[in-house]
Amino acid sequence: MNAARHVLVTGANRGLGLEFTRQLLVRGDRVVAACRQPGKAAALNALAGEYPGRMHVLPLDVAAPKSHAELARELPLVLGEGVRLDLLINNAGVLHSGERFGRVGADNLEHSFRTNAAGPLLLTQTLAPLLSDGACVVNMSSRLGSIALTERFGTPSYAVSKAALNMVTALLARALADRGIVVVAVSPGWVRTEMGGENAEVAPADSVAGLLRQIDGLGADDGGRFLDWQGEAIDW
Ligand code: NDP
Repeated sequence: MNAARHVLVTGANRGLGLEFTRQLLVRGDRVVAACRQPGKAAALNALAGEYPGRMHVLPLDVAAPKSHAELARELPLVLGEGVRLDLLINNAGVLHSGERFGRVGADNLEHSFRTNAAGPLLLTQTLAPLLSDGACVVNMSSRLGSIALTERFGTPSYAVSKAALNMVTALLARALADRGIVVVAVSPGWVRTEMGGENAEVAPADSVAGLLRQIDGLGADDGGRFLDWQGEAIDW
């Protein structure tokens, strides 16, 4: 797949979403950076100042379908009438740490599912008419969502929601294949962000550069795959 031209990144105000936005702008793409509170997204707004006309910051709460519809209404205004997205990066996600068997709560499970799995499915469904034929949809998953790699009872709300996101990926890949839209799940590695923590192995810049290399290399046959940031296939 050639370098994307128009990209939407969710959860763009910090962590990997902010780094995706930065690297996409550096390489010349046009970015719609979506986040919950644009007014408070200082780093994003500073980037928007550096790249006038090539970047727009729009509000989006991925866990709120009403917000998806509002984004879909606003997108043509910033992209230009008739312009479609070449790449959608479903990056926003939450992780509730410290969960123990016997004390897993419904609230964490429900919040994780709504944000990490239902959000990307419903947002992609809403934005599907605005995706170009041959576009790419990237769902930010995790090795912790791999059933095959499960070794212990850890981060259950997150793991369950990312496993669900993997199924979302397989289903969307089939739903959109006839338009040549490639949908993949990716793992960014263990990355030094607020979620990954300061002891994580990989710098955000390296993870995102690796992921963009994988995304650029995707072809029609790659729909429904689960890849890590270095291109290794991950077992479901
Ligand atoms: P961070 O916690 O640093 O950033 C999470 C981002 O998601 C923030 O921008 C946050 O916005 C946003 N977000 C959370 N909930 C919502 C919501 N309801 N609507 C819109 N935005 C929301 O995490 P990372 O950057 O590390 O993670 C990015 C993605 O990569 C996630 O999907 C994560 O699961 C995945 N991942 C990360 C790994 C790592 O090691 N870091 C490993 C494997 C996967 P706000 O500031 O408003 O909260």
